[in-house]
Amino acid sequence: MRNPTSFLSEEYEELVEKSLDWRLKTLYGPSEPFSNVDGREVIVLCSNNYLGLTTHPRLKEAALAAIETHGVGSGAVRPISGTMDLHMELEERLAKFKGSEAALTYPTGFMVNSGLIPQLAGRGDLIVSDELNHGSIIDGVRLTRADRAIYKHNDTEDLARVLDEAENHDPEYRRILIITDGVFSMDGDIAPLDEVAKLGGEHGAMVYVDDAHGEGVLGKGGRGIVSHFGLDHNEVQVEMGTFSKAYGTIGGHISGSESLAKFAWNKSRTWLLSSSHPPPVVAATIAAIDVLESEPQHVERLWRNTKRFKKAVEDLGFDTGMSQTPIIPLIVGESSKAKRFSDLLYDEGIFVVPIVFPMVAQDRARIRVQMNAKLSLEQLDSVIETIEGTGKKLEII
Ligand code: PMP
Repeated sequence: MRNPTSFLSEEYEELVEKSLDWRLKTLYGPSEPFSNVDGREVIVLCSNNYLGLTTHPRLKEAALAAIETHGVGSGAVRPISGTMDLHMELEERLAKFKGSEAALTYPTGFMVNSGLIPQLAGRGDLIVSDELNHGSIIDGVRLTRADRAIYKHNDTEDLARVLDEAENHDPEYRRILIITDGVFSMDGDIAPLDEVAKLGGEHGAMVYVDDAHGEGVLGKGGRGIVSHFGLDHNEVQVEMGTFSKAYGTIGGHISGSESLAKFAWNKSRTWLLSSSHPPPVVAATIAAIDVLESEPQHVERLWRNTKRFKKAVEDLGFDTGMSQTPIIPLIVGESSKAKRFSDLLYDEGIFVVPIVFPMVAQDRARIRVQMNAKLSLEQLDSVIETIEGTGKKLEII
């Protein structure tokens, strides 16, 4: 007789044996660069809260005020009765911030990629995707019936080759969609979006950028990668992002043309069939945009810290790979070494996670540092000192 559930523990045990299982660490208190994690006071360098906005007073006040005026839940999906004045205000503010005709919010960034991509391309179309794109893009692409082509990471020559080949496809492709991360989450490098957009223009392809890690980091006042390259939404037709990182809250979004927003909200099932954000989240996100617009010091401090840290670890001999942003990997090679590095750092009061195969190549295991605007220079220097000591102990440097 077949056992219907034995695979659950079998497959889990297999992951444990290979040390590929996730063990959760718990924060006792807010997400901040100094947190109590599993009972230890540590400096957290593995959070997407780049600007420290999760605890910004203006965001907290806005959330509390919205609970008083609008309650704690929205009660429905957007197209039924889950659209409140707050949701509309957020989208207007976001469009203005991004310099786009329109913006649309989704429950999460994952739901933008998994819900919108399958609508943008289908049978008879081609999706061209960078080989290191985020898993949510990969899932979105898998949900389409479109042909797929992967180009080498950030390699615009290879992208041009794929697009040239696509020109000769018989029957001619109906649509071509190029998708790339803006900032790559494992390496911290930036997509050459200007060249990607140029190629897109030359080939009549739509360009979709996932800027989850570029927002609050790149561009004028943290407006993101489209602003960073001085592009507009005629060149990059879909600018996707998430409030779950530098904005300090949660929620996916897109910016682009009015027709994109209307198309997306009428067609994406993840938008149509999943309930809208609770009022405090929406209000706090509007406040996050206010903060980005009026307090440039957060983005400035993030870059000050990023530059100082990166230079220091590189001077010490660490391999930071292709990093150009506050995502700074310290590449050590073997998975076991990366795990040991992270364990020892945790003992010393620094919380960073090892990134190992299959997330990165077998011999490129690393710990990934995500810099934070809230660290003072003294705190940063003490982090660097600890990393130096631990790196030497493990003979990484
Ligand atoms: N895209 C990228 C590049 C990401 O890093 C993430 C978050 N890990 C997402 C999309 C998904 O965003 P969210 O957390 O809002 O679902």
